[in-house]
Amino acid sequence: MTPSSLHSLFPEPEMPRVAVLLPLPFQGTLDYMDPGLHLLPGDIVTVPLGNRRETGVVWDSTQNLPADLATRDNPPEIAASRLRRVIGRQNQPPLPTSLRLFITWVAAYTIAPPGMVLAMCLKAHLRGTDAPDLTGWTAAADLPENLRMTPARRAVLEALSNYRQMTTSDLSKASGSSSAVIKGLADAGAITSVILGSKLPFGRADAAYCPPRLADEQAMVATALREAVNNACFSATLLEGVTGSGKTEVYLEAVAAALDAGKQALVLLPEIALSAQWVERFARRFGTRPAVWHSELGQKARALTWTACMNGAAQVVVGARSALFLPFINPGVIIVDEEHETSFKQEDGVMYNARDMAVLRARQANIPIVLVSATPSLETLTNARSGRYRHLELPSRHGGAQMPETHIIDMRADPPPRGQFLSPRLIDALNTTFARGEQGMLFLNRRGYAPLTLCRVCGHRFQCPDCTSWLVEHRARGILTCHHCDHTEPMPRICPGCASENSLTAIGPGIERITEEAQHLFPDARILVMASDIQNGPTAMADATARISRREVDLIIGTQIVAKGWHFPHLTLVGVIDADLGLAGGDLRAGERTVQLLHQVAGRAGRAEAPGTVLLQSYSPEHPVMQALLSGDLATFMEREADQRRPGHWPPFGRLAALIISSEKEAASDQVAKALGRSAPQGDGVQVLGPAPAPLALLRGRHRRRLLLRTRRDIAVQPIIRNWLACVDIPSSVRVDIDVDPVSFL
Ligand code: ADP
Ligand code: ZN
Ligand code: ZN
Repeated sequence: MTPSSLHSLFPEPEMPRVAVLLPLPFQGTLDYMDPGLHLLPGDIVTVPLGNRRETGVVWDSTQNLPADLATRDNPPEIAASRLRRVIGRQNQPPLPTSLRLFITWVAAYTIAPPGMVLAMCLKAHLRGTDAPDLTGWTAAADLPENLRMTPARRAVLEALSNYRQMTTSDLSKASGSSSAVIKGLADAGAITSVILGSKLPFGRADAAYCPPRLADEQAMVATALREAVNNACFSATLLEGVTGSGKTEVYLEAVAAALDAGKQALVLLPEIALSAQWVERFARRFGTRPAVWHSELGQKARALTWTACMNGAAQVVVGARSALFLPFINPGVIIVDEEHETSFKQEDGVMYNARDMAVLRARQANIPIVLVSATPSLETLTNARSGRYRHLELPSRHGGAQMPETHIIDMRADPPPRGQFLSPRLIDALNTTFARGEQGMLFLNRRGYAPLTLCRVCGHRFQCPDCTSWLVEHRARGILTCHHCDHTEPMPRICPGCASENSLTAIGPGIERITEEAQHLFPDARILVMASDIQNGPTAMADATARISRREVDLIIGTQIVAKGWHFPHLTLVGVIDADLGLAGGDLRAGERTVQLLHQVAGRAGRAEAPGTVLLQSYSPEHPVMQALLSGDLATFMEREADQRRPGHWPPFGRLAALIISSEKEAASDQVAKALGRSAPQGDGVQVLGPAPAPLALLRGRHRRRLLLRTRRDIAVQPIIRNWLACVDIPSSVRVDIDVDPVSFL
């Protein structure tokens, strides 16, 4: 029997069935009927769900997934007579194929419902409404195959040739065709609506606006990156170079190459607070602002930027990890700046590492990716060593600026007075710095006044009622607050344990307390405090950095936000209050992370003519982390890390996935954790650790247990976890979060 005779035996139903993915935590797609809209995969549609309307995306019924990531079988088909109809197609171009494939892969890799990944993509999209301010039309990238051509339609398409964009009335005048013809072409998918350039919150970048004069070694690296972009195929490159070596300058040349080729570039930054300095720099190089993607963006700017990614008007997008899910139509390169940063890992909802998923996206889009860092992660270094990634290096600071000199202050030998935290040597160094008219910085990775408050009389400690965590005093605001759940209570005058007055004592320092001490010690110094809860957004952060650049500040006191890629030319002294802070706790990467963080902080010093000095206050100067920072020989340190992780198959030499079981009922958590423990997968190269109470055994009122699956590098964790979870009944009162490639072990 031939296919066509088969066809006549089973006449097509009048309404074809389409699979629609909704931005909701369902396992797969839902089927609907297409009421003659000729829907195609990617179309953004409105559908009924229960008694509401939802925005969804028409999904491909089959997508090629690698066997080890394939999702569970589809549920049985629902009879056509019971299906509901799609309400309508939204006035938006379809979601690009590459983005749909990416969503499927991210869901499979992270073992998250695909709808939740779609939700991240659609977050910007005005749900259930058409794109805002659609004031113009442009020709679609590809004409739909079965487009019915008429002279009137042809006239419209001709008027829009050469990427022209026109409003409906201009287009009607230029083509002599009515607005009904234009609407018909839009419905057929032959033309798409665009935001006209003048309405966009960014401009057209000019690759030739102000090219840098690169030093020889910079030029070599820039050429290699340009070639990678021009090759227009997948490649991964690690760009490693000390802070101030010109990495940004050089990777902007990769962006320029993408612009030259008429393609889009995506630059991921770990911290969106950095975007202001970055945008300024971009504007000096390319003559205009790039599109910026961050949380402060208003709903309208978001929707505009989202649409602009899809129609190509957004050439360069800089943003935090969520920018990875924008619907780029013609991507040419992805850059991940500060690739080692843990903030690329999203810890709630879909737990994904934007750095790793960016590599996946580049591979799917068949474009180059550049991972940039002064202190690359062991993961990326290992890929570079094995030859999977190309390794480009910029070994010295630009313009002859010297790397700062690092010293360790042994706090056992040179302690501060009781109840204070700055050692005499650090105080001397700061005084000398101010006397020379230069700037100093004090770093302590702890917000608030004190991490613990204790009653001197009865020993009462203030604990969060909902978390395994002490409450942190924020003295300026007169409160105690939990840094995990934001539970806040007023600071009492009387101890709740024994009713003593004036018995509550602050234990340990936070930056507020360091600021108080510094105000005493340096009454004439102009002090600026930088922390995520003080400058709580890119604008406030930009103001702060501008004040530093204008030399309106003598001393900067800050948390990890000051460690980021700032360029402060007049800063010559960096003091780290508690260099040992990150080493406590049994985290797999505690050493690596402390080296990266403190090296990054140190890199803020002496970036211009004046040489810089870094003073690390430590109670364990002999620790390999302190020694690595002292010598500046991070390569040897990372080799040692590798040697320690390799034998036990710890990442990157093996794979990890965590199961986090949580419930408001402790017994329920325990029961599920134990059941999972009993049915733990076994086999060569597969090991399960736990269950055990999580270090944060209570978080936001939920009791948490953890299991850790460790496998050999050649064994994928996803199918193991899927089979594992299928064996255990999980009551609705218990949640099991799956964290593939965990970064946090809390
Ligand atoms: P990194 O990203 O490695 O920290 P940057 O690209 O920020 O380094 O460069 C450090 C400083 O040196 C910046 O102020 C930058 O403008 C300047 N710089 C680097 N390379 C050049 C160059 N070729 N010409 C002019 N200035 C440069
Ligand atoms: Zn008390
Ligand atoms: Zn809490």
